[in-house]
Amino acid sequence: MISDKIYDLCIVGAGLAGGLLAAQATRKGHSVALLEAGSRFPFGNRVGQLLHHQTLAGPRWPWLNEARDHYVDSSAASIGVGYALNSNRVKGVGGSTLHWDGRINRLMPVDFAAATTNGLGVDWPITYAELEPWYSQADWELGVSGTWHRAMPPRSRDFPMEGFPMSVDDRLWEPIAERLGIEVFATPWAINSRPFGGYSQCLAFAACQICPSGARYSAERHIAIAEGTGRCELAPETVARRIDLGPSGKVKAVHATRLTGEQVEVRARVYVIAAHAVESARLLLLSRVGNHSDQVGRNLMEHVYVDAGGFLPSRRFYPGRVGYEVTESLSYYRAEEKGRRGGIKLEFTFDEDPLHESESRHLWGSRLAQYDRERFGHWIGLEAETEVQPNPDSRVTLDGTQKDLFGDAVPNIRFAFSPVDARTQKEAGEILANLLHEVGATEVSQEPLGATSWGAHHMGTCRMSVDPDKGVVDRDCRVHGTSNLYVAGSSVFPTSGALQPSLTIAALSLRLAEHLQQVLSSPQAA
Ligand SMILES: Cc1cc2nc3c(=O)[nH]c(=O)nc-3n(C[C@H](O)[C@H](O)[C@H](O)COP(=O)(O)OP(=O)(O)OC[C@H]3O[C@@H](n4cnc5c(N)ncnc54)[C@H](O)[C@@H]3O)c2cc1C
Ligand code: SF4
Repeated sequence: MISDKIYDLCIVGAGLAGGLLAAQATRKGHSVALLEAGSRFPFGNRVGQLLHHQTLAGPRWPWLNEARDHYVDSSAASIGVGYALNSNRVKGVGGSTLHWDGRINRLMPVDFAAATTNGLGVDWPITYAELEPWYSQADWELGVSGTWHRAMPPRSRDFPMEGFPMSVDDRLWEPIAERLGIEVFATPWAINSRPFGGYSQCLAFAACQICPSGARYSAERHIAIAEGTGRCELAPETVARRIDLGPSGKVKAVHATRLTGEQVEVRARVYVIAAHAVESARLLLLSRVGNHSDQVGRNLMEHVYVDAGGFLPSRRFYPGRVGYEVTESLSYYRAEEKGRRGGIKLEFTFDEDPLHESESRHLWGSRLAQYDRERFGHWIGLEAETEVQPNPDSRVTLDGTQKDLFGDAVPNIRFAFSPVDARTQKEAGEILANLLHEVGATEVSQEPLGATSWGAHHMGTCRMSVDPDKGVVDRDCRVHGTSNLYVAGSSVFPTSGALQPSLTIAALSLRLAEHLQQVLSSPQAA
């Protein structure tokens, strides 16, 4: 229960960033108030939830509250397709890690200096070398299973657990990659390959929407650590609605409302907004904080996935039965010609699903059985995760017409692409088609180019910048013009790269936790 005492730290959002920050602060003896809009989902219910999801096609998590999580999507007008925000996030204790995949990547060193190196986007105010020790610590905090490959960025510490081997199906690509001179490697996962951190090893390593064993990392682990110290007060179903900023640039309180309607005022020495890219920007905008140069909400980014597939008559695959795919390639990550296109990472997938086939082809009964006998397992897929350039017109704003259950303006999402994004997606499609032809696939087909599918990776909206006129937070993640307000998470990313964001979120959160430790230990602290 949140009390009226002055906490050392108030954190908004109990996801990956908020959970790590709460654990680090409480481990150092600081008191934390952790506000979370969503509910807590008890660990003991996971098997039932998984069964419900897989047999009755129920939601992975019953987290959605339409009145609280409503939004307006204006993307169709700019990119021709809409964006289903609530399919790409989770609100709850643990945040989006409640049903993430757990694929773990560091950004490449070049991603921190994209403007200087490739003439694209902007440079980060920090370098890969500065973040590297925090990446290594993040591997150990989350529990990452991986095997280093020379295509990966340099690292100062080994992975805590050995990586998962390539599956039988993955191995199909090895000789083809060798012939074409591209490197493939097994991607690291935040899934235990052996017992680690008090959680079991992954037993099946197959399709996992909800992990009942706890082998796959969820931020609930760090929230449990924080609560276990007795110094963290977690308030689920409590929505932060306003940041009360005084004239001197010092935050005085955060005002929240519980789903029951009860008002909550939290006072702390330091405040961190860790509500993910859309809601962090929305809270700053609702509070009229940090937006003196009209930067809050701008440069919203996502990873666009380009998908392609083909029919391989000569071979049958066993998706999800003899190992989960782990193969990736960074061989096409950057174009040699400056400014030509953004990053491209290849993922080799075998996720055909008979239930999906029956739905998408409208086949049932004996016709479905016949189809499965002849075709199932012969479909080979490839995906390219592509970089989307920071674009000030791609943004989160407050919608002028629609309100949430408390009467606050809902977020309006508008993704916008640049000509560079179109080139990146087109080139990714060509690379995939070429690889499928090399492997001997027929009936090669691609989803229409554009936003075919998304990564569920929201980035940007509170960009990190040295110049207060070009971003929202400084290199320490402190909101420009304030003394005790910080933003954590991928909203501070100046560029997106073409790699999953969560290890970078974790590394930045650990780095911020160290900074806050210094701030809170100083007698002149906020
Ligand atoms: C289906 C899916 C698959 C994914 N797979 C991967 C993957 O393989 N690899 C990878 O790196 N990433 C993946 N991601 C992304 C990853 O889950 C996110 O990058 C990560 O969880 C973001 O952490 P966060 O703490 O910034 O935000 P979140 O985890 O989203 O947590 C933010 C929390 O803030 C709360 N909140 C929001 N507004 C308020 C408010 N006003 N008051 C109080 N609380 C608030 C929310 O309820 C939420 O719980 C995936 C995501 C999804 C949805
Ligand atoms: S396969 Fe592994 S990660 Fe997936 S649900 Fe099972 S134990 Fe969890």
